[in-house]
Formats: sequence, C-alpha cells, structure tokens
Amino acid sequence: MILTFIEKIERTSDCFSFFFQPPKKLEWIAGQYMQFTLAHDEPDDRGVSRFFTISSAPHEEIIMITTRFAGHTSSTFKKALMSLERGQNISAFEPQGEFVLNDKDKNYIFVAGGIGITPFRSILADLEYKKMSGKVQIQLLYSNRDNEIVFKDEIDNLAVSYNSFKVRYIIYPEICDIGLIRVAVPFYREKTYYISGPPGLVKSVEEQLLADGIRQEEIMLDYFPGY
Ligand SMILES: Cc1cc2nc3c(=O)[nH]c(=O)nc-3n(C[C@H](O)[C@H](O)[C@H](O)COP(=O)(O)OP(=O)(O)OC[C@H]3O[C@@H](n4cnc5c(N)ncnc54)[C@H](O)[C@@H]3O)c2cc1C
Repeated sequence: MILTFIEKIERTSDCFSFFFQPPKKLEWIAGQYMQFTLAHDEPDDRGVSRFFTISSAPHEEIIMITTRFAGHTSSTFKKALMSLERGQNISAFEPQGEFVLNDKDKNYIFVAGGIGITPFRSILADLEYKKMSGKVQIQLLYSNRDNEIVFKDEIDNLAVSYNSFKVRYIIYPEICDIGLIRVAVPFYREKTYYISGPPGLVKSVEEQLLADGIRQEEIMLDYFPGY
C-alpha cells in the first residue's frame, strides 16, 4: 500500500516520530509492525526497506513510527526518511507480527530497551482507549542509555492514573538483568515477559529468565536488529 507522509515530531535530541496517512482505514493489532520501502538515490548496503513497529494505537488511525537518527553516521534509509516532505509517498506491506497481548488476565512485565518501547507505547495507548488500563496488570522495565526517555510523559501519566500499571526506569550504567528483576518485580516468577529492543538486550534478558526457571511460553520477544 502507499502511505502519505504527514509530519515528523522530535521526541528527544535523536529520536523522531513520523506520521503517515494510510489510503483507507487500516486494521492492525497494537504491537504489530510493517515493512516500509523508501526509494532513494544511492542506497547503502542496508538497502531501501526497513521494518518498524507501529507506535500508534489502532484507534488513532494514523500510522506513527518512532526511530532513532544517528546523525551523519545514519544509513541512507534514515537520511531519506528524515528528509521526507509533507505529501510524499512511502510504500509498505500490511501490518503483521505476534508481539501482541492475547490474554488480558495475565500479569505482564514489559522489558523495553531504548527504542524497543515502540510496541509497548501502542499496546498501552490501546488498553487505555479500551478502558482496560485499570484491569490489566503491567509493570514496565524501561532501560535507556540516558535521561532522554521517549514517551516518558505518557508513561508517567499512566502510572499516576492506574494502580495496575507501574514503571521502573533503568538508566545506564544500571542495566536490566535478573538481579534487578528479582528486586524490582514482586513474584517475578509468576509473570509473563514481553521483551523488546536491540538483539543483545533481548537475548540476554531472555537467557537469564530461562536460567532462573521462567518457562519459554511465558516469554515473548521482539528483536530490533540494526542497533
Ligand atoms: C519487527 C521489527 C520492528 C522494528 N521496529 C523498530 C522501531 O519501532 N523503531 C526503530 O527505530 N527500529 C525498529 N526496528 C529496527 C529497524 O528496522 C532498523 O534495523 C533500525 O532502526 C536501524 O536502522 P538503520 O539500519 O537504518 O541504521 P541507523 O539507525 O541509521 O544506524 C544505526 C547504527 O548502525 C550504524 N550504521 C548505519 N549504516 C550502516 C551500515 N551500512 N553498515 C554498518 N553500520 C551502519 C550507524 O552508525 C548507527 O550506529 C525494527 C526491526 C524489526 C525487525
């Protein structure tokens, strides 16, 4: 499908959200992603396509993606994305992916590494819209390399509004590992874990949870390669 670029907004000094209008009302499940193709001159060896999670929730109707921009060391794809002008087109495949909440009765721990917050932003906004925020038990463990935390205001507002939602920020050099989880998460063995972000973080947290006896069925993973 062809999406039309509307605007971008700056979230932090190196992180931006991009908004696209779909050709017709698009159905998706909060937490899913799309593959985008942006033709541009002289692409580098990473090419002209990327996967991005849809960081908006379905009721928002617009496609928002949120990504980091590495300045002059960015890929040609990211540079082309940054130079999009209102009305320009980008092509994309239908939303897909299994990193979605299927069972609202479970107790969830969301582990986000940096920009890995994107599926959780969509899921949390979706739950709030559906008036489920006070009913689903969620604790977010959000690791970031510094205090520039994407979606922090929204997340803090949810934590203030709902007892069922808690957030713990983990700022480097503190890291999210099993030692931190044991202390930060009461009854941590009885939870369902959703882990999203750079492959190193996702794999490391998964391995530590498995080694501690958490069952594989209670761990869902979303890898963001390329970081
Ligand atoms: C299912 C899924 C969902 C995803 N969702 C998101 C999302 O919501 N947000 C998001 O930001 N990403 C997401 N990703 C990752 C995304 O697809 C990109 O891989 C990632 O953003 C890196 O982009 P980039 O390759 O353009 O590199 P850049 O972001 O431009 O660069 C990242 C780093 O790689 C270095 N680099 C740049 N070009 C090269 C090169 N040619 N060779 C070697 N190193 C290079 C840069 O110096 C920089 O340090 C997702 C991936 C998947 C599979």
